[in-house]
Amino acid sequence: MSESKDDIEIARYEQAISRKYGKESVQTPLSTWDDEKEQQYLEQSAELYLKQQKIQEQKDKIEIDGFLLSKKLINKDTNRICPVCSKYSFDLKDDVYMSKFDCCFHCHVQWVENREERWKSGWRPKKTKKASRSKRKR
Ligand SMILES: [Zn+2]
Repeated sequence: MSESKDDIEIARYEQAISRKYGKESVQTPLSTWDDEKEQQYLEQSAELYLKQQKIQEQKDKIEIDGFLLSKKLINKDTNRICPVCSKYSFDLKDDVYMSKFDCCFHCHVQWVENREERWKSGWRPKKTKKASRSKRKR
């Protein structure tokens, strides 16, 4: 990956700081440099640092249903969409069944449990016309 949106954002932020305080301020303090300026500069630098850290953290995380999960926790090779019912799941429980049976927990209960031989032999339920338009009640 080359320059990401985040990298560009950081570069912009750095530019904004140097614009605000003058290019010199970033390099060597001049006579115009005073404690107040330095304080501000340090604060902004700290802010930038935190921002960078946060972005790095976000890069390592993935948002699922509003939760940030570490990518390390999620096996990228694991299929997130159940090939049987097309349910999209990040449930760790589903994860287990997905890697073991190529289906989610729900499908396992419905199709595999007690019929594992049939499943292992390659049998799959016919794709049913599931309510593609799920009713959303609020
Ligand atoms: Zn399923």
